[in-house]
Amino acid sequence: PGLAPPRAARPRARPGRAAPRGVGGRGARHRPRLREWLVDREKRQETGIPSRLVVLAGPTAVGKGTVSTYIRENYPDVHLSVSATTRKPRPGEVHGVNYFFLSDDEFDTLVENDEMLEWATVHNAFRYGTPRGPVLEAMAEGMSVLLEIDLQGARQVRGTMPQAVLVFLLPPTWEELVRRLIGRGTESTEEQQRRLATAKVELAAQDEFDYRVVNSDVGTAASEVVDLMALR
Ligand code: 5GP
Repeated sequence: PGLAPPRAARPRARPGRAAPRGVGGRGARHRPRLREWLVDREKRQETGIPSRLVVLAGPTAVGKGTVSTYIRENYPDVHLSVSATTRKPRPGEVHGVNYFFLSDDEFDTLVENDEMLEWATVHNAFRYGTPRGPVLEAMAEGMSVLLEIDLQGARQVRGTMPQAVLVFLLPPTWEELVRRLIGRGTESTEEQQRRLATAKVELAAQDEFDYRVVNSDVGTAASEVVDLMALR
């Protein structure tokens, strides 16, 4: 349970028909995940160091990127997952550091090969996803792993990796969120309006999260997130 959705119950167990062969009604996609989970658990038990998976989500422009960059630069023990995306790089963004910037076809291939831990279309525009391999490798080494992803992705991780700690980053006020989004100046007016609409919906989901952290000051918010990584 938790590693893959059960197959839909189909009327297979009728007289004269072979019983379903998947373990517990689960199939080929479940088995590699189960194997990864067992290897990961064994490693953690051997080393005695619990690895933690923390998901940092929150509305657009709340400063998730700034907080996660601060963590990457100041807390080297934390493995910050590098997402894949189909959007184009902004000035200063580096392939492999900020994102893996992929074509639609490349992204499709990762999804088809089940190499994404989660993925979503964000702001009705581009696709973003977390490559599964590096996350599991870092966890197997006993590192704490941080995913900075959107709400849809956070929900998927909760489903597939129930041990994950979900943290919701809040703006000090709604006005401050609007100010940050407009002030960033990286999106067109139309895109800003679309993101503000998404942000309203996203703020309403904060109760689904294990913890909430208010981002008034980047360093303080980052240290609160890192402290939460030590709790489980
Ligand atoms: P941006 O284009 O501003 O870098 O990011 C847009 C949104 O995509 C942000 O809300 C960010 O959290 C989300 N995002 C970034 N990486 C991922 C990912 O791997 N998975 C998901 N689901 N969302 C992501």
